[in-house]
Amino acid sequence: MFPSIPSRIALQTRSALVRRLYSTGAGVNSLLYVEHKDGAISGATLNALTAAKKLGGSITALVAGDAPEGVAEQVAKLEGVSKVLTAKESAYANALPEDIAPLLVETQAQFGFTHLFTGHTATGKNIFPRAAALMDVAAISDITGVEAEDTFVRPIYAGNAIATVKTSDKVKVITVRGTAFEAASAKEDHSASQEAAPAAEKLGLTQWIGEEIQKSDRPDLGSAKRVISGGRGMKNGENFKLLYDLADKLGAAVGASRAAVDAGFVDNSLQVGQTGKIVAPELYIAVGISGAIQHLAGMKDSKTIVAINKDADAPIFQVADYGLVDDLFKAIPELTEKVGN
Ligand SMILES: Cc1cc2nc3c(=O)[nH]c(=O)nc-3n(C[C@H](O)[C@H](O)[C@H](O)COP(=O)(O)OP(=O)(O)OC[C@H]3O[C@@H](n4cnc5c(N)ncnc54)[C@H](O)[C@@H]3O)c2cc1C
Repeated sequence: MFPSIPSRIALQTRSALVRRLYSTGAGVNSLLYVEHKDGAISGATLNALTAAKKLGGSITALVAGDAPEGVAEQVAKLEGVSKVLTAKESAYANALPEDIAPLLVETQAQFGFTHLFTGHTATGKNIFPRAAALMDVAAISDITGVEAEDTFVRPIYAGNAIATVKTSDKVKVITVRGTAFEAASAKEDHSASQEAAPAAEKLGLTQWIGEEIQKSDRPDLGSAKRVISGGRGMKNGENFKLLYDLADKLGAAVGASRAAVDAGFVDNSLQVGQTGKIVAPELYIAVGISGAIQHLAGMKDSKTIVAINKDADAPIFQVADYGLVDDLFKAIPELTEKVGN
């Protein structure tokens, strides 16, 4: 192929060429579905944008809602977004998958997007597999790495194995694990062009009745820098006050194991783990939690893990950076007292 140059150099030249093609994202044309609430872009969308940027190519954002204009303005300032499509319809107000998935399909068909990205949130998990099924392609869920245009990394078996998946589908429909990618940022002098998204059929198969959301002045569990979680060892819901007192001093969010949630100690929005929230704070304190793999799946990427458990053989100590073998009802009040106001 390179007859006039030695093979080692030829190989280097070819791989450099491949790298160049890849990093410029030749042929890559991505669509970012923007999740938003109360006029603000969701953090997970900003992480998904960073994942999309790793592929290069052009990135178009889709903002759907009953009044998407304000969010579209914010999205237009995000670095890496070259165009914003706006779909304004009352049917899109609550991001129901039965209406948003056909919109994605129609938008992809019109613009020929090669990749669709969004956050691996309840909304993303609700919409993207449906859109993938309508397009007759595989959904690639919860990615933590981008290897190439057709190759992605994702944890399987509750994070006990890491799979590298390669797809031959023409359109790649991808949800992104937020904790694996930095949040993309806005640039004041950047302004992407804006236009209306194509019209899509509104099936009206489901109707939005309402939602009940736990309101809290504490940091959001999904994005907090510090998290203190309690497990079955807390014994009951009232005892969680011990954790809230410490959390207030640390500026931390409070989480829980599934056993604590199932026992009714706390609301299930606090659950951390495979079937709960995935968190990766700077500090994670596990109190009265044994460390089952399903719990570890949600917190083991935390920077510093502290475990407090009375059982020295509890598996949580295997992933902990600091461990305290003690009764939590003695240790937590002492800790709270020692942490300055
Ligand atoms: C499909 C599936 C999905 C799941 N998803 C999740 C998930 O998302 N999140 C999750 O957390 N779990 C999940 N689980 C459940 C998981 O397997 C465990 O059952 C659960 O995590 C155990 O919670 P725990 O550590 O609080 O309770 P336990 O395992 O009962 O541990 C309690 C710990 O508290 C300690 N303790 C008790 N009293 C004290 C005290 N006074 N002082 C100090 N320590 C004390 C004990 O030594 C023990 O280690 C899932 C399970 C399945 C099958």
